[in-house]
Amino acid sequence: MRKKLVAGNWKMNKTIGEAVELVGAVKDATANVDDVDILVCPTFTALQAVAAQVKDSNIALGAQNMYWEEKGAFTGEISPVMLKDVGCRYVILGHSERRGHFGETDETVNLKCKKALKEQLTPIVCVGEKLEQREAKQTDAVVTTQIEQSLAGLGEQLADVVVAYEPVWAIGTGKTATPEQAQEVHVLIRALVRKLANDAIGDGIRILYGGSVKPDNAEDLFSQADIDGGLIGGAALQAEPFLKIIEAARKG
Ligand code: PEP
Repeated sequence: MRKKLVAGNWKMNKTIGEAVELVGAVKDATANVDDVDILVCPTFTALQAVAAQVKDSNIALGAQNMYWEEKGAFTGEISPVMLKDVGCRYVILGHSERRGHFGETDETVNLKCKKALKEQLTPIVCVGEKLEQREAKQTDAVVTTQIEQSLAGLGEQLADVVVAYEPVWAIGTGKTATPEQAQEVHVLIRALVRKLANDAIGDGIRILYGGSVKPDNAEDLFSQADIDGGLIGGAALQAEPFLKIIEAARKG
C-alpha cells in the first residue's frame, strides 16, 4: 500500500517571514496527521527558517531545484550537500517551469537525479506534455521519452524516486486533467518504471499528479488507483486550501 504524499511547491513566492507563518499554520493543523506524508518546498532563502519550524514535526522539507555537483565554480547554483545540510529530504527536479524557462532537459534531470540519490535526497521528477502535444495525441510518446531519459540508468534506485505527472497545460491555468486522463498517464508511468526496474518497484513507486489541484477536485483525483498524492502550486500558498487538499488525500 503506497502512502500518499502531498507536496507544496511554493515556487518563487514568500519572504522568510511569510514562509514561516505559512508553515507554522500547516504544522499546527497537521500535528496528528500520520497517514499522509506532507512536504513543503520553499525558495532557497527560506529553507533554513522553515527547517527550524518543521524540526520534530511530520512535515518534510524539500527544495525546488539543485545542481549535480557537490561544490565548486558554479556561480548561482546550489548543491545537494547544501540542501541536505539545511535539512532537506526531497528535491523537485525537472519541473516544467525549469524545463520551459531555464533550459532543463531530460539529460540534466537525469544527472541531477543520480546525484540527489547519491546524497540520500528523494528526487521528485516531473514529467508532462504540453497542450499541443496532447492535442496531437503525443502524450504517451512525450511522457515515455521523459521517463526513459530522466530516469535512465537508475535501476533499483528507482525505489527511492517519486514521479510527478504534471501536464504543462494544467499548471497554474486552472485547467485540471480529469481524474481519468491523469489515471491513464499514471498507469503508463508505472508500467515504464516496472520495465526500467522491476514489478515490485513499479508497484511501489509514488506517482503524484500536479496541475491546478484544488480542494474541490483533489478527492476525485486522489481516489484514482494510481494517483498517490499531489504536487500543489497555487493552492499550497495558503494554509486553508493546502490543508483541505491534505484532508482529501487522507480520504482518497
Ligand atoms: C506546480 O507548481 O507544480 C503546480 C502544479 O502548480 P499549480 O498547482 O498552481 O497548477
